Amino acid sequence: MKIHNFSAGPSILPREVMEEAAQGILDFNNSGLGIIEMSHRTKPFEDVRDEAVALVRELMQINDDYGVVFLTGGASTQFFQIPMNLLDTEDTACYVETGVWAKKAIKEAKLFGQIEVLASSKEANFNYIPTDFQVPEHAKYVHITSNNTIYGTQYNAWPHANGKTVVVDMSSDIFSREVDYNQFGLIYAGAQKNMGVAGTTLVVVRKDLLGKVKRPLPSMVDYSVQIENGSMYNTPPVFPIYLSMLVLRWIKKIGGIAEIEKRNDAKAKVLYDEIDRNPLFRGTAEVEDRSKMNICFVANDATHETEFMEICKQNGIYGLKGHRSVGGFRASTYNALPIESVQFLVKLMQQFETSKK
Ligand code: PMP
Repeated sequence: MKIHNFSAGPSILPREVMEEAAQGILDFNNSGLGIIEMSHRTKPFEDVRDEAVALVRELMQINDDYGVVFLTGGASTQFFQIPMNLLDTEDTACYVETGVWAKKAIKEAKLFGQIEVLASSKEANFNYIPTDFQVPEHAKYVHITSNNTIYGTQYNAWPHANGKTVVVDMSSDIFSREVDYNQFGLIYAGAQKNMGVAGTTLVVVRKDLLGKVKRPLPSMVDYSVQIENGSMYNTPPVFPIYLSMLVLRWIKKIGGIAEIEKRNDAKAKVLYDEIDRNPLFRGTAEVEDRSKMNICFVANDATHETEFMEICKQNGIYGLKGHRSVGGFRASTYNALPIESVQFLVKLMQQFETSKK
């Protein structure tokens, strides 16, 4: 049975990338060695790392003002690594609280500086993106989460940052749409959704922001050290970096971010149209803040939920269960998900509607 993978992460990857990666594990570029059994300090791996970094620069259209590194510890490590590098204890950073991940980022940042929560959509279970705030003059940076994986909300317009540095967690929508990446001071994303496998985190940071804090930084968490060492201060996550490189190559090959965005728009439209049309279901996020990566919906009659979920399972739909804090369903429509999977889900929703008539 064909499996339709709607998992929120780790999530679907392009089939051709997985095939190439499988080959690369066994025998990388006919070298007789697998990519995961050779030293990282050799030309074959350095070439992989260099190509990954070059592709990030090309797809983001950023220049040498930015450092590009592949780190470990997940996006969750960035929650504290960012304030450690950018914020002195007496400095203030501003955060927009749009969900669990933002909340965790706030909690960790409080260990290293003064944190102001500019706005929150907590009172509505994070079903919208708050915009009613002003970034104060004294803010060192403003932190936002561009896509809220659990609640299915996404910034469809960027907030006014009053000229301050914007730090963005793009874990669940990196490389999914055309974005002016040069507006940000720091961009970070765990790889396991749109970029590769769990095990590496992409960090892109404007170099002029670094080296300013008074606190001494352990080498591993010092972005300057990581940039100087080309992500290889220690043994880097070689396989996750290799896989990211293959995914980035795939994005470029199929037509770059413009093509990816076109595909993602089409998928989201098919599913949201059905959610809005089908009387059995409704979306959970405010319409103007709907995510094109994580599409959250519930059944109007709660008793239908287990039933429809069972039908989905029987038909090869994987990973559709909503996060426990929202319930219902969450269809993650990341870059690698083909539109056919979304059309298949829509067909099941329509059949379910007919069965209830
Ligand atoms: N930020 C967002 C938006 C996420 O979706 C996630 C994970 N799903 C994280 C941060 C945490 O990432 P990690 O598990 O890589 O630490």
